[in-house]
Amino acid sequence: MAVRICPHCKTEVTGPNIVAYSFGVECPKCETRLEVAPETRTISTFCGLAAGAIAWRLSINSDGDLGGVLPTLYAFLAFGIVSSLVLMFTANLRNAPVIPVAEPAHDLGASGHGPLGHGGGHH
Ligand SMILES: [Zn+2]
Repeated sequence: MAVRICPHCKTEVTGPNIVAYSFGVECPKCETRLEVAPETRTISTFCGLAAGAIAWRLSINSDGDLGGVLPTLYAFLAFGIVSSLVLMFTANLRNAPVIPVAEPAHDLGASGHGPLGHGGGHH
């Protein structure tokens, strides 16, 4: 299964990099700015929540001095670990949206053409 592959040069981007920079990672080869597809993040978050719920259910049955705290702690840890792992293994990379650059030349060209072009019509 081809995951974590740069769509441009097919270079594999390492998992830890994606987890650390999932909002924007550069391809190590062609330096294209990439990001993890939003649906992948949704999946990883969902899996993390499920793991957290399972951990909470499992640990809440264990009686102990820390019985009131551990379930929450386990759930928190499970969420963080599982969501990161799922993100690492399922991350689909796509091109990050290009940062919008103002193009004044285009604007001027469009508006400047009109009045100048029709200027000669009036007698
Ligand atoms: Zn690349």
